[in-house]
Amino acid sequence: MALDLVRVDSISQAAGILAGDGGARFLAGGTFLVRALSAGDGSIQKLVLNDGLGLDRITIGDTITIGSAVTMAQIESEPGLAFLAPVAGSIGGPAVRNMATVGGNLFAWSPYGDFAVALLALGATVVSEGIDGETIADLEAFLKDGPQRGAIVRAVRFTAPSDGAFRYLKVTRKHPHGASVLSIAAVLPVTGGKVSRARVAYGAMAPRPMRATAVGAALDGKALDTAAIAAAVAVAADGTAPEDDPQASAWYRREVLPVHLRRLLAGETR
Ligand SMILES: Cc1cc2nc3c(=O)[nH]c(=O)nc-3n(C[C@H](O)[C@H](O)[C@H](O)COP(=O)(O)OP(=O)(O)OC[C@H]3O[C@@H](n4cnc5c(N)ncnc54)[C@H](O)[C@@H]3O)c2cc1C
Repeated sequence: MALDLVRVDSISQAAGILAGDGGARFLAGGTFLVRALSAGDGSIQKLVLNDGLGLDRITIGDTITIGSAVTMAQIESEPGLAFLAPVAGSIGGPAVRNMATVGGNLFAWSPYGDFAVALLALGATVVSEGIDGETIADLEAFLKDGPQRGAIVRAVRFTAPSDGAFRYLKVTRKHPHGASVLSIAAVLPVTGGKVSRARVAYGAMAPRPMRATAVGAALDGKALDTAAIAAAVAVAADGTAPEDDPQASAWYRREVLPVHLRRLLAGETR
């Protein structure tokens, strides 16, 4: 079957095509989409290209905005995003990172979506544009509900974490760039010696990246000491629903999660 490639002048034009044509897909880095095409996915009949839409910009300040077409390689080389370099650097090999985008990662399913895990911990919002205009959604809601039909993600936005507050750990069987057995990201701001508003998120512990709200609640208002870490680890598996896949069984993921959560909270991210 022939495949149409469509270049557009604006996001609203792209959104119109996507909303009106069930066979159309928005092409970002193509690391998933082109693989699906190569595997013979006949439901994809048209690719709407993202070039020239200005989605590849990064703005750094108290609020950080990352365009959806920004690649993992761009993140790794941006000094103002040094805290996110280990996350981007954990995604595939160099060839994948040169193409894989932040926007595309929001659509990944377990065991992928490591960048979305970090964004979830950072409390990111997602700015999308569809045929009815712009919408801004919490990433958590976006991951649960999906985008409005045909909507295109323009950017993700979050408040810059305080120095040293962001932590990330990825467990993989194949080094240096295997898919996740699990990944954990956390923002642990400390005020007056106590953790306040902790946000912890997991990858590969559910079909989509998820927040570990019980873990965050167990840490809030406490010094990050052995007792607080033990309380957080005790509720590590709350709400998780991991799957069996070639990286690991669901049973194994549940077994090792507390071990790695403890390591992350104790500051051992390697
Ligand atoms: C060998 C290999 C290794 C990988 N390793 C990892 C890994 O370790 N960790 C990980 O997290 N992922 C991994 N991935 C998965 C993937 O590369 C990434 O998740 C990547 O970020 C997807 O982005 P993309 O730009 O390539 O998406 P695409 O393939 O272009 O698109 C994927 C889906 O997202 C939609 N989409 C993309 N951008 C937008 C947008 N702006 N608005 C609306 N819809 C959009 C597309 O329409 C499509 O449905 C790997 C992939 C491969 C092939």
